[in-house]
Amino acid sequence: MLLPPETWLTQAPLEPLHLDWLTDAGVEVAILRLDLIDPLISGNKWFKLIEHLKAADHAGAEGIISLGGAHSNHLHALAAAGKRFGFSTVGLLRGHPQETPTVRDLQAFGMQLHWLGYGGYRARHEAGFWQPWQTRYPTLHPVPEGGGGLPGALGCMPLRAAVCAQLQGLGWNDYDGWWLACGTGTTLAGLVLAEAGDHPVYGALAVPDDHGVVQQVEMIVQEAGAVDAVYELVDASRGGFAKVDPLLLDFIDQTEQAGNFPLEPLYTGKALLALKQQVEAGRFAQGTRLIFIHTGGLQGRRGLKSKN
Ligand SMILES: *Cc1c(COP(=O)(O)O)cnc(C)c1O
Repeated sequence: MLLPPETWLTQAPLEPLHLDWLTDAGVEVAILRLDLIDPLISGNKWFKLIEHLKAADHAGAEGIISLGGAHSNHLHALAAAGKRFGFSTVGLLRGHPQETPTVRDLQAFGMQLHWLGYGGYRARHEAGFWQPWQTRYPTLHPVPEGGGGLPGALGCMPLRAAVCAQLQGLGWNDYDGWWLACGTGTTLAGLVLAEAGDHPVYGALAVPDDHGVVQQVEMIVQEAGAVDAVYELVDASRGGFAKVDPLLLDFIDQTEQAGNFPLEPLYTGKALLALKQQVEAGRFAQGTRLIFIHTGGLQGRRGLKSKN
């Protein structure tokens, strides 16, 4: 398997965020634009993949097999990386065959797709799940949903250095914490490991409370043997994953105009709205400086728009 060079895609711009509600509260936020790292391999999903790719390379694999939904940002980044770097990819999809902009891209990138239905997809956590797939694709390395687990988190650790290297350009000598959208909590766990207690990491949950994010983060932290894990999860799901309401859409519209950067409603829009609510509730003292991670996901927006 051909691996991309180490330096590739590690530089994402850190930009000051100018929004009224931040100015009013005297809180400063800089946004780490992971949506800008590459036209196709966008967002946190690249970082979550990198250690999985290295493990695959070590194991002598010829490619990657993984799973996700019909709008999956993870499968999209994986398929694009496979095409770019010339390794083969297989995607196991939730539900029944459907055409979405994401699915069309996966096919165009050369990913081979298998639709598992809903029951079949639910079985992904069962012990024997991978066995038949590994028999069928013995040269492919399996990667869990969303590129999760400890390897996924380890790949996100360099984000801290990427931010530290750019603080001076903002005129900051330090920051007080991170704010980012969480689905599985893998990206958050990577930052928690990188910080080792230096700065807190605030995770805005895009999924309801019962998705076991705390357990997943704790498992990664324990597996890594980390002692100081300083983080907090805040509910930002607004009634469910992929649930979208007028207040959220209004907020996204206004922010896109005022801030001159794109958001999508499932993760980044919800995370920034949750931050606004906390800032307005007086959660952060005047002078607080936060890093907001733009985790990408903009490709998934196409599917949502065409549904409306
Ligand atoms: C997958 C995803 C997340 C969630 O990342 P986790 O590591 O699973 O918490 C956040 N934002 C976007 C845009 C994503 O695609």
